[in-house]
Amino acid sequence: MPDSDLIGHVQAILSAARFAAEKHASQRRKGKAAEPYVNHLIEVAHLVSTALKELDTNLVIAALLHDCIEDAGVTAGELARLFGPDVADLVAEVSDDKSLPKQERKRLQVENAPKISMRAQTIKLADKISNLRSILSSPPTDWDFERKKEYFAWAKRVVDGFKAPNPVLKAEFESTLASFHTDRAEI
Ligand code: ZN
Repeated sequence: MPDSDLIGHVQAILSAARFAAEKHASQRRKGKAAEPYVNHLIEVAHLVSTALKELDTNLVIAALLHDCIEDAGVTAGELARLFGPDVADLVAEVSDDKSLPKQERKRLQVENAPKISMRAQTIKLADKISNLRSILSSPPTDWDFERKKEYFAWAKRVVDGFKAPNPVLKAEFESTLASFHTDRAEI
């Protein structure tokens, strides 16, 4: 890739990181450590980038932006204008409909898992890994063991529905699940 193209890709990724940081500036993770929300977005984008055999800049950008429709009031139209229709479509594909009750959104994630595109599966898998890691390292203070177990089981049902999960991320997901079961005496 020529240097000028490379600079363009780096700038596009950083511009998405900056946009995401601004849009989620007032949000924190739900765990007791209450980390800045942007930590989660960068972790998901990093997981996606390490799992790809070839650079897919739009997929890394969409990973940085994956929660901004759902949690930060950004529209798909705004994303299409700023980052292009491919990124906007990817983010829309991984976004729940927040007008629905939470249990219904969770049910739909399981139901829709077999239908989503390979690239959307990659983002969702990275998102689930990050969420499970957070529950292991800094669980919400009001979550007991049963609540954590239920969340892990639901995440597994979603991921098991994927038709073509990225193998690197699938392996990481499985090992994160396994560490929950190994550590259960402590949680
Ligand atoms: Zn997320």
